[in-house]
Amino acid sequence: MCKRNMRLAAMVVGCILFSGCSQNSAEAKYDDTSPCSRDIFAMDTYMNLKVYGTNADKALSEAEERILTLEKELSVTSDTSDIYKLNDASGEPVQICDDAAFLIERSKEFGLTTSGCLDITVFPVLREWGFTTGEYSLPDKKRISELLEYVGFDRIQINDNTVQLPENVQIDLGAVTKGYTGDEVINILRSYNIKSGIISLGGNVQALGTKPDGKDWKVAVRDPFKTDTDMCIVEIADKAVITSGNYERFFIGEDGKRYCHIIDPKDGFPADNGFVSVTVIGENGLTCDALSTAVFVAGEEGAQEIIKSFPGYDFVIVSDKEKVFYTDGLTGHFQNTSTMDAEVMTFD
Ligand code: ADP
Ligand code: MG
Repeated sequence: MCKRNMRLAAMVVGCILFSGCSQNSAEAKYDDTSPCSRDIFAMDTYMNLKVYGTNADKALSEAEERILTLEKELSVTSDTSDIYKLNDASGEPVQICDDAAFLIERSKEFGLTTSGCLDITVFPVLREWGFTTGEYSLPDKKRISELLEYVGFDRIQINDNTVQLPENVQIDLGAVTKGYTGDEVINILRSYNIKSGIISLGGNVQALGTKPDGKDWKVAVRDPFKTDTDMCIVEIADKAVITSGNYERFFIGEDGKRYCHIIDPKDGFPADNGFVSVTVIGENGLTCDALSTAVFVAGEEGAQEIIKSFPGYDFVIVSDKEKVFYTDGLTGHFQNTSTMDAEVMTFD
């Protein structure tokens, strides 16, 4: 069952407090009171970009083009993408574009800093569970252990733009693409001297500056236990708010269990380590995206270590016991709007 679009709806409603763009007049000026807004469907998700100031329209056109380029380059399913070519290369080296090379390089680093919780080579396992096609099935354990032989980010050889994967090793940048895309969009907006804007890429929110009135943006985070319901609001400026959760894309197996699209590279099973959603708040969208997936995988046992090694980043975690934990940096910028208890995380 695909929950992706429902998630977007809730988060966008929560974060964007203004009505649509007054783009219909040819002479419209996008100033502090009338934003220019654009809806895009790309990367298998709905996106909304909302921007204030002169040049907003031009900036949005360039941003949209960039999103479509990144989709073409990075999609794991489209046979024209660099990632597809790489996965199809049967062990041969492949020349790839700068974006793909950068993301592979960074993902390898995140593999190291998250003790292997983020591992972009998990793709063959993800496919076996049916997450690439929607034809879900519970693979047998023997098949999973066979496929785990090909999982391990340290097997990716990368030298500038040349990448080589051993035979049967395949990668997927789904865990980091939207965060990076958000960073790229924000950079484009900045290059047009835009000072205020907010974007939602499938529920991942990134803010440029503050609201035009100088106040922080209020971004709502979805309640993982309730359909179309927010659980908290975080107040941010110039930051990303990126969530990974087990309610985004999942299926219910014949055994009645929920299996989500984030795979634990240690055992090849959908991660089920005590967390149902992990939200990361910080300046760099790519880092937030990588960490939301990684901390979701790390779960109760491994989260602390990762969180401590990224002091500039804040986290909101919902446990499967229906409790909310958030890092101290959010105090004063965090509002619990759920019926769950929320408390500041403490570390050993
Ligand atoms: P979303 O894309 O829904 O926002 P995530 O950022 O958490 O959620 O990314 C999940 C995607 O990352 C999966 O759909 C899959 O493509 C990929 N993936 C799943 N497990 C892992 C993992 N352990 N490491 C790296 N990528 C993963
Ligand atoms: Mg992610």
